Amino acid sequence: MPRPILVTIHTAALSHNLERARAAAPDARVWAVVKANAYGHGIERVFDALRSADGFAVLDLAEAQRLRALDWRGPILLLEGCFEARDLELCSRLGLWHAIHCNEQINMLAAHKTQLPHRVFLKMNAGMNRLGFTPERYRAAWTRLNALPQVDEISLMMHFSDADSPKGISAQLKAFESVTHDLPGERTLSNSAATLRHSAALAGCSDWVRPGIVLYGSAPDFPEHSATDWGLMPTMTLTSRIIGMQNLATGDSVGYGSSFIADRPLRIGVVACGYADGYPRHCGTGTPVLVNGVRTRLVARVSMDMITVDLTPVPDAAMGTEVTLWGRSSEGTVLAIDEVAQAAGTVGYELMCAVAQRVPVAVE
Ligand SMILES: *Cc1c(COP(=O)(O)O)cnc(C)c1O
Repeated sequence: MPRPILVTIHTAALSHNLERARAAAPDARVWAVVKANAYGHGIERVFDALRSADGFAVLDLAEAQRLRALDWRGPILLLEGCFEARDLELCSRLGLWHAIHCNEQINMLAAHKTQLPHRVFLKMNAGMNRLGFTPERYRAAWTRLNALPQVDEISLMMHFSDADSPKGISAQLKAFESVTHDLPGERTLSNSAATLRHSAALAGCSDWVRPGIVLYGSAPDFPEHSATDWGLMPTMTLTSRIIGMQNLATGDSVGYGSSFIADRPLRIGVVACGYADGYPRHCGTGTPVLVNGVRTRLVARVSMDMITVDLTPVPDAAMGTEVTLWGRSSEGTVLAIDEVAQAAGTVGYELMCAVAQRVPVAVE
């Protein structure tokens, strides 16, 4: 029998979440962001469920090639553009649209030989200070691009640093608008958080929105809002089973470092899931987990291949009982990936991207 750990991808939930993103920005076209192998879900596994998107956004040329191999003929956007000159040949061949965030990329494009001019997305750095032209340098970049025969259409792109938090978007939106108000071209500014939280303010500059994490059923602004608050459904479930049980007396300890000590007699279950499966080692005693759909807690340290859980609320738990680490249990109970991420001091994004290669995946 194989080790009883499994990831299940819920395709109906992916489609549902895409419709939620659409409903939040009804006048915009939607890029389904499928970078990082569709946030760990697998591009091929999510493709059918997301194919009603208007385009797919990726980072990697290899990911763009996989989408074309799936026979996707619609728009594909490279969110960081090209990393070296020869990438542009593939852009021409596959008809990829690409971000332009620096002068080096304009130089590469100016030297590129192509029959087919490219659709480019000129990126502004309005305060995030990662990629893009500052507001002061943006128009010069636009003018340079606009003069190139290799360029077909220029769209305007920006990424907010605080769409998920109280600081909000207004200063960066103002910076963007003051520089671009008289420039032609489609606008794309919104990630998931901006799409859900700021769609009214962004109505005039949302020709395209770029939701990622909402498609995968995680709240971009947890814990202020939960996935349920936003009407999102989990798209990934990580389950395993109980492969061992121990009855502890008061004072018995569990796991490496004996970090957990029973303060009363306690039955614990040993679960086939550890950090080598992508379950975060930083999850400590108290992290929520579902046993047979019933909420209980992890106890002691996460080890490489196992965790231990408190069976007190589940007296009928036995060898082979289902354990849900995040997502939806067979009973229908949901444990949000965001809650587990919070217990590990991180975000749902990281957990879904980090599920290990050794975990088998089912699609339903
Ligand atoms: C990843 C990414 C997104 C999607 O972000 P979410 O927070 O997952 O919605 C949007 N735009 C750009 C440029 C990105 O890199």
